[in-house]
Amino acid sequence: MPNELKIKLPKKLKIGGHVFDIVFPYRFPDSDTTGGESYPEENIIKINDHSGMGMPKSESTVWVYLIHEILHAIDQFTMYEVFNNTENGEQACEAIAQYLYQVLNDNDLLKKPK
Ligand SMILES: [Zn+2]
Repeated sequence: MPNELKIKLPKKLKIGGHVFDIVFPYRFPDSDTTGGESYPEENIIKINDHSGMGMPKSESTVWVYLIHEILHAIDQFTMYEVFNNTENGEQACEAIAQYLYQVLNDNDLLKKPK
């Protein structure tokens, strides 16, 4: 069963006062391995639901992608860009996304669309 039939992400999110469109599922034409991309100036986040091997991603992985891209958008809005412009920034973003998802999900603080 394709992911698009069972995994649901929010269609819109307010980030920094901006209303973002969440495009999911999305396939990146230039990269099979990209999990997500944020475009803060356009208020768009795109999330992939398949790996480079063409396998569907798990729901938890897709949520981590979304949180990861939210962090990138916040990072750009704050103008600090610690994730984008510092050594190991990308790894820090991913680590925070993974653990933030775990805390929110395991404590039932994540509101998932039905
Ligand atoms: Zn990233």
